[in-house]
Amino acid sequence: MKLDPDLTLQILEKVGIYSNRFSISEPQILLTTKEVLDAPKEMTEGRRTSAYKYYGVSYLQHNLVFINVRKIPDEKTLENTIVHELIHMRFPYLAHGKRFNKLVRQGLRGKTFPPYRKRSKTAAI
Ligand SMILES: [Zn+2]
Repeated sequence: MKLDPDLTLQILEKVGIYSNRFSISEPQILLTTKEVLDAPKEMTEGRRTSAYKYYGVSYLQHNLVFINVRKIPDEKTLENTIVHELIHMRFPYLAHGKRFNKLVRQGLRGKTFPPYRKRSKTAAI
């Protein structure tokens, strides 16, 4: 898709809405590979020069998300990508798979999630 000020606004709006629903702090959003390359190297470590290959990349440690607008073919894929990356932010321990995909589908349907809490390593009754 072609990035213009209208689309930028739409994307940031969606990120705001879904971040609220998923009870996460709104991540910083990068929309071009140039922004990825211009970001501090320690923030984009691991997926810096390879970021262009993906629809989206989450840099979990830095609350940073890259949405590769240029590579994304249509609005549906765009929405999917936004929700996919924000699900990574809300469920940082979860790898890709059935459970992950289910959460993405629920997110797309408007489901809300309570804030993420790290589980205590001990339990007591
Ligand atoms: Zn992913």
